[in-house]
Formats: sequence, C-alpha cells, structure tokens
Amino acid sequence: MDKPRSSQLRAIVVGAGPAGLMAAERLALADLEVDVYDAMPSAGRKFLLAGKGGMNLTHAEEFPLFQQRYFDRQQDLARALNAFTPQHIREWASSLGIETFVGSSGRVFPVDMKAAPLLRAWLHRLREAGVRFHMRHKWLSFKDKRLLFQAPNGEVEVSADIVIFAMGGASWARLGSDGKWCAPFQEQGIHLHNFVPSNCGFNLDWTTHFRQKFAGSPLMKVGIDLTDTKGEKRSRTGQFVISETGIEGSLVYAMSSYIRDLIQQDGSATVYLDLLPDKDEERVLRELAIPRGARSLSSHLRSKLGLHPVHNGLIQECLPKEIMHDTARLAAAIKRLPLKIVSTRPIDEAISSAGGVSFESLNEDFMLKNLPGVFCAGEMVDWEAPTGGYLLSACLATAYLAGEGAVKFLSQIRK
Ligand SMILES: Cc1cc2nc3c(=O)[nH]c(=O)nc-3n(C[C@H](O)[C@H](O)[C@H](O)COP(=O)(O)OP(=O)(O)OC[C@H]3O[C@@H](n4cnc5c(N)ncnc54)[C@H](O)[C@@H]3O)c2cc1C
Repeated sequence: MDKPRSSQLRAIVVGAGPAGLMAAERLALADLEVDVYDAMPSAGRKFLLAGKGGMNLTHAEEFPLFQQRYFDRQQDLARALNAFTPQHIREWASSLGIETFVGSSGRVFPVDMKAAPLLRAWLHRLREAGVRFHMRHKWLSFKDKRLLFQAPNGEVEVSADIVIFAMGGASWARLGSDGKWCAPFQEQGIHLHNFVPSNCGFNLDWTTHFRQKFAGSPLMKVGIDLTDTKGEKRSRTGQFVISETGIEGSLVYAMSSYIRDLIQQDGSATVYLDLLPDKDEERVLRELAIPRGARSLSSHLRSKLGLHPVHNGLIQECLPKEIMHDTARLAAAIKRLPLKIVSTRPIDEAISSAGGVSFESLNEDFMLKNLPGVFCAGEMVDWEAPTGGYLLSACLATAYLAGEGAVKFLSQIRK
C-alpha cells in the first residue's frame, strides 16, 4: 500500500543507481510522491559490481585534499561535496545498519566490504517511504512537458512537477549506463561534453614475444611520471599489470586522465617508469657496478636490485638490447624507462567515464538552466575522479544536492 501523501506534488527520478536512489530518498523525505524509472530489470547493478572487489564508499582523508581529487571540477562540485560529505556518507550508511571502517589507505568500506546488504536495506527503506519503482522502463525522450519511456508493454508517457535524471555515464553498458540519453538531451539544446574513458587501461604496441611472456604479470611497486597537457609534472607510485594489449591496474587508473588527455592532444603519450622508486640512480648504479662473476645479468639484477624478469623484459621491450650491457644507461633506464602509450582501452571497459552534462548547462542546484524543474546528478554530469571512493562520493553528493534543489524549486513554485 502506498503511504497517504500530504502533498500531490509528484517527482520522477530516472535511473536507479546510487545517484538516483539518493535523489529519491531526499525527495521522499520532503513528502513528495516519488516514482523511480530504470531501464534495467533491477536497481543498482553497477553499484553491486562496485561491491565485488570491496565496496569503497568514500575516503577519509582531510577534506581539502579530498576535494582536490576532482581535478578541474572541484569548484563546480564544492557545494555538493560540502552538502553531503564523506562523514555524512558514513552516517547515512550507518543509518541503514551498515557500519564502515577506514582502511590503511584512508579508503572507507562497509565492515563486510559488500554492496548487496547496503543496497537491500536502502531499497527497503525507500519502499517503506512510499517510493515506487518502475523497472524495465527506458527513458527515450522529452515529449512536450512529459517524459516518454519504452516499457515492457509499449511506450508510456508520464509527467511530474520535477524530474531528476541520474542515468549514469557511458561505461559497462550492459549494467544499464549506455549513454544513449545524450541524443535527446542534445535535441533540447543541453550542452554535453563527449564521454571519454576514465580510470581505464591503455593500449601499447607490445611485441608478440613480450605479450606472450608477460601478459598478466604485475609490477608491484613502480613509479609513473609524466608531464601533463598543461606542462605540469605528475608522478605517482603504485602497482599495475601488463595486459595482453597494454597496461591496466590501480596506478594506471590513477594517472589515466592525464595519459588520456595527452593521447587526445598528441596522438600518443610517453610516460616514464621508475622501476625502483625506493632507490636513487646513484645507488642503482653502485649496485649494478658490483662485479657479477659467473652469474647471469638477470640473476644479478634480481639479487642486487630485486628486479624481476618482467622488469628486464620491459627494459628490453622499450630500449635497444645493448643497453643491458651498459651499466650507466641501464641504471638510467631502470629509474626512467620511457613507455609509449598509443590509445585508451574502449570506454565500455572503463571503471568510469568523464564527460556528460556540462556544468555550464546547470545552475548551482544541478538544475538544467534551459529546462526549469529538471535536474541531473551522478556520473552523467561532467566530472571525473580517481578510484578510492571518490566516484560514489560525488554521485551521492550531487544527487543529494539536486534533491535539495528540487524541493526548494517546488516550494518556490508553490508560493
Ligand atoms: C568495476 C567497477 C568498480 C567500481 N568500484 C567503485 C568503488 O569501489 N567505489 C566508487 O566510489 N565507485 C566505484 N565504481 C564507480 C561507481 O559504481 C559509479 O560511479 C556509480 O555507480 C555511478 O552512479 P550513477 O547513479 O551516477 O550511475 P549508475 O550506477 O550507472 O546508474 C545509472 C542507472 O540509470 C539507468 N539508466 C541509464 N539510462 C537510462 C534510460 N535511458 N532510461 C532509464 N534508466 C536508465 C541504468 O540502468 C542505471 O541503473 C566502480 C565502477 C565499476 C564499473
């Protein structure tokens, strides 16, 4: 049974990912009649996938540092991130019976690391609050003042006093976020930035020999150093994996926006690997110069410097073979190995996407300037962030603020 409503005002949320659910929650709190529509048979599919490797909800670092993770969009997101902070996210999860803990890296996880119990509790609370879900309803377009959906039994038109769109970005289309909403948005004159992969892997031209020998090999502690499109030096240490087609993994994802932008600007990107970030070049040179006697070079590199076959393979893949016998050049290569990256992996494989509804199209409450009463939230808005809980944090925060904005908008038109 639907809860009796004190107000006849009706809100529609399109998209039942974390952003849509947070928007629905905020609207239901204001005692609006809320209907959530989603193209998929069930809610929160990408959210559930995000929980597979450990659901990283948010990050516990100092707030100014946290805000900097949103690159050029930190100012645009400031109101949202302040309205629903990482601490609010932890309290919100706790209100659903999900306690969280801060991992050693500052990342915040549910105690059981899972997404499913949280999603279950959240959907239950929303239904209890009277939110109605209409699954298998794909939004097609604006039709006059109504929204047109493709439903299981044909097209349906619905209208509402306010709408919040939260249809996600353009990766992992099979989980629902296929970016197909872009065309009808553009028809309304809404300015969008093209979707591009974020937190993605990259393609390199590996030789067959290298690929066959090393695909799947991890590099546990390496540095990546590059000069970004603005001429600024960027470096970071972490781990990544050699893939069949190139490189992937957390360090690569963390640097992916800079690498992607360099490729977009120059057609390819050269990054420099530091294979021994804990040793300076002088020390590497000193240890390389120790006579190796009858030992092979690779066992010498392993015993003296802790370098594995994949490190040696990379050096030989990227530089002329004779370098292995020139101690000074080898030491320099170990500390600064140039790696030419040729392209991004397809967007559908990326953990997230950048691009979507531009901030110029939105007012400070995430309402579309040329469609009063229509709001956008989550990954469909043009911001990006590294992994580490920043993606969900901004999805929840933008949805919370859009929800607040929608309630404010309705109270103004009601006057
Ligand atoms: C493998 C993986 C791991 C991740 N891990 C983490 C993590 O640990 N921490 C973190 O912060 N982030 C993580 N993310 C990112 C995070 O899951 C997303 O940023 C987040 O789900 C985006 O939320 P959203 O609500 O904006 O969009 P989505 O979750 O994509 O939801 C959008 C919804 O809109 C629906 N939809 C789309 N188009 C239409 C339409 N035309 N009509 C009706 N419905 C439509 C979709 O079916 C979908 O349900 C991960 C992502 C992936 C792929």
